[in-house]
Amino acid sequence: MIDAAALRQAFRDVYGLQDGAPRLFRAPGRVNLIGEHTDYNEGFVLPMAIDRETCVAARPRADRVVRIFSVNLNEHAEFDLDQPGERERGLWLDYVEGVAQALERRGVRLGGADLALSSDVPVGAGLSSSAALEVSAGLALASVSGREVDPVELALAGQEAEHTYVGAKVGIMDQFIAALGRAGHALLIDCRTLETQAIPVDTTDTLVAICDTRVKHELSASEYNTRRAECEEGVELLRRAGLTDIRALRDVSEADLEHYGRALPEVVGRRCRHVVSENARTLDASAALREGRLEEMGRLMYSSHESLRDDYEVSCAELDQMVEIATSLAGATLGARMTGGGFGGCTVNLVRRDALDIFRETITREYTDATGRTPNIYVSEAGEGAGEVTSDE
Ligand code: ADP
Ligand code: MG
Repeated sequence: MIDAAALRQAFRDVYGLQDGAPRLFRAPGRVNLIGEHTDYNEGFVLPMAIDRETCVAARPRADRVVRIFSVNLNEHAEFDLDQPGERERGLWLDYVEGVAQALERRGVRLGGADLALSSDVPVGAGLSSSAALEVSAGLALASVSGREVDPVELALAGQEAEHTYVGAKVGIMDQFIAALGRAGHALLIDCRTLETQAIPVDTTDTLVAICDTRVKHELSASEYNTRRAECEEGVELLRRAGLTDIRALRDVSEADLEHYGRALPEVVGRRCRHVVSENARTLDASAALREGRLEEMGRLMYSSHESLRDDYEVSCAELDQMVEIATSLAGATLGARMTGGGFGGCTVNLVRRDALDIFRETITREYTDATGRTPNIYVSEAGEGAGEVTSDE
């Protein structure tokens, strides 16, 4: 949670109050419970918003200039809506200018604004501080310009910002959950149709714990592109082998893959097996979560990790270590897996509420012993998606 009063004060310090007080808007980070590397294969994902967020204080201007201050970085930046800046500058401004330009391209006419932002989503840890930034800034800009923006449009504009300005070909999951999350619920998203189903997350006895390995390996961007290409190759080869009516791995069943998968080279075959089985696990996990069968949900999380580690090969030693320690705490942990793109970042765990202290202590001690790094552990309820902050609470 960001302290609204402190952000208002930061805004005042930067811009003064002569033109009136700012309005506040927020968007959350997220954790994906299951459904990894399925979004760009037009499949299913099951993320929930977490209780960490990016908050933007915003006040309209009479011109078309956007000034922005990041409290976290203590940095100022600005751009002119009428003179789009260069793309892929590698600056945090790319996310903000990118979403502004994407909204305008989608017909949401914006005015200039003064913005100050503050975030407690850890940056680069795989909890999507970037989507929280795009969605909160996009909502702030549209709102103080007097425009209503549909949350789906807002999410798509955020994704477009990553594609065009940032240069990251991400799927739609992060922006979608940041814009459309519902408190107390995970969201099953069909990444082909963009249909969503809110699934209650029962936290009476079980909590969602996120363990940050504190590592991020350089591999992730290039390997991400390689995996995308391998999936496309898989679709093409399966089509040639006789599955003529498929458009994406989403259309391939486990039985299809069993039968036609023999046509695939070994590596591509394993990549396809991950995506196809992960889609099935995600639908099974949604049903298990909805029906309160949390042991089953946990079992599916463990098998998701194995599939990401062995078939998709996007895990790393630190993530495997973290999952292994969680697995050894059989009385405390129902399930554990890497979450996000991989090669570092976080694991997501289902932990019994009454064993949370043991879980925390053991993970911290054993992970530190094994790697020399102290993990960060966050426990989060499922939070609400983006919106205006109307009180100082
Ligand atoms: P993740 O989304 O997993 O946290 P990304 O690499 O996709 O990691 O996005 C992180 C980038 O988003 C940062 O490097 C920075 O450019 C931008 N960003 C996120 N939060 C802030 C913030 N509070 N202030 C300025 N830039 C931010
Ligand atoms: Mg990101």
